[in-house]
Amino acid sequence: MKLCNNYSLLPHNTFGMDVRATLFVEYDTVSELHDFLLSETFGKHRSHFIHIGGGSNLLFAGDYHGLVMHSAICDLTVVEDTPNSLLLRVGAGYVWDELVAYCVEHGLAGVENLSAIPGEVGASAVQNIGAYGVEVCDVVEGVETMDLQGNLRIFNREECRYGYRDSIFKKELRGQYIVTHVMYRLQKSPVFKLDYGDLRARVEAEGVPTLKAVRRAVTAIRDSKLPDPKVLGNAGSFFTNPVIPRTQYESLKEQYPDMPSYTVDDTRVKVPAGWLIEQVGWKGRVLGHAAVHDRQALVLVNRGGAVGAEVMELANRICDDIYNKYGIRIVPEVNYIV
Ligand SMILES: Cc1cc2nc3c(=O)[nH]c(=O)nc-3n(C[C@H](O)[C@H](O)[C@H](O)COP(=O)(O)OP(=O)(O)OC[C@H]3O[C@@H](n4cnc5c(N)ncnc54)[C@H](O)[C@@H]3O)c2cc1C
Repeated sequence: MKLCNNYSLLPHNTFGMDVRATLFVEYDTVSELHDFLLSETFGKHRSHFIHIGGGSNLLFAGDYHGLVMHSAICDLTVVEDTPNSLLLRVGAGYVWDELVAYCVEHGLAGVENLSAIPGEVGASAVQNIGAYGVEVCDVVEGVETMDLQGNLRIFNREECRYGYRDSIFKKELRGQYIVTHVMYRLQKSPVFKLDYGDLRARVEAEGVPTLKAVRRAVTAIRDSKLPDPKVLGNAGSFFTNPVIPRTQYESLKEQYPDMPSYTVDDTRVKVPAGWLIEQVGWKGRVLGHAAVHDRQALVLVNRGGAVGAEVMELANRICDDIYNKYGIRIVPEVNYIV
């Protein structure tokens, strides 16, 4: 187990915030985690701690005056092998895209559309990551966790209460359970989901669809649209797409006929946050060391040397402008860490 005081979090957040944690702890096994949770050290920091993964959905406001925990549990085992599917149990610290690569390499379908999403396995199940018409909850069969008293608990998919970029771990049980492993059910015969953007055209240009072709296409599209955090610090989509009552949308549509929407259910629609940001003129604009990306309005970037407060100020100004024009509140998908 690694235990470091006054530890730099620069390599642990894709926004590139140069901040420090009072104490950083990285454990390698479930039993190390158990012992640490029962230790005096954890007891001292229990009221102010955060568990991170790859730090690709976090925005540190400044130095973190508390404990930062990270899992280095990186095992991968086949739990069940049936004629149609394989059940994998994967450690929370396993890099998500390496898992996708493993699945594609072994002909296991279900996560290929989620290629090239930064972060780790533990967070995939907390965030319910999604892209190109697929959400990870489609393949999650169970989430193994430990509570802060060191007790194990397995949540089945229903108990995780998955929603759009949401789960029970982000809401009611926030900060109460640490994910140690995730179980994913992958299929041996792929059912391709290609009806999203120009994915089908890209994949079919290569011939008959294959898992590898989907992974290549998704990765190429993402590379062309999203800034690489190693070059320009960012945390992907900064805001979630707001879900509003259909009645509100219909009256807005009279005033703004080109306002796009996606149906959520009979009474609600989702409006793309990126479109709203563009309409209020923020796409490509700079505020101090922070900016809205010029190719993707949903992505806020660190132009170099930005501090968390600058990015938060930018986000607030965007939110206010959208609210003042449309009466719609957009909210950050990124977790603010103070
Ligand atoms: C360039 C870029 C593109 C992105 N594209 C997408 C995309 O297409 N789709 C998408 O859904 N997301 C996307 N994201 C966001 C991000 O990749 C996901 O939210 C990812 O799941 C975060 O994983 P992480 O390991 O970095 O978690 P972190 O950012 O470190 O943490 C995220 C949350 O999970 C919690 N957490 C982490 N590990 C554990 C654990 N073991 N136990 C309990 N809680 C834990 C943290 O406390 C925090 O609340 C993108 C980000 C970037 C930078």
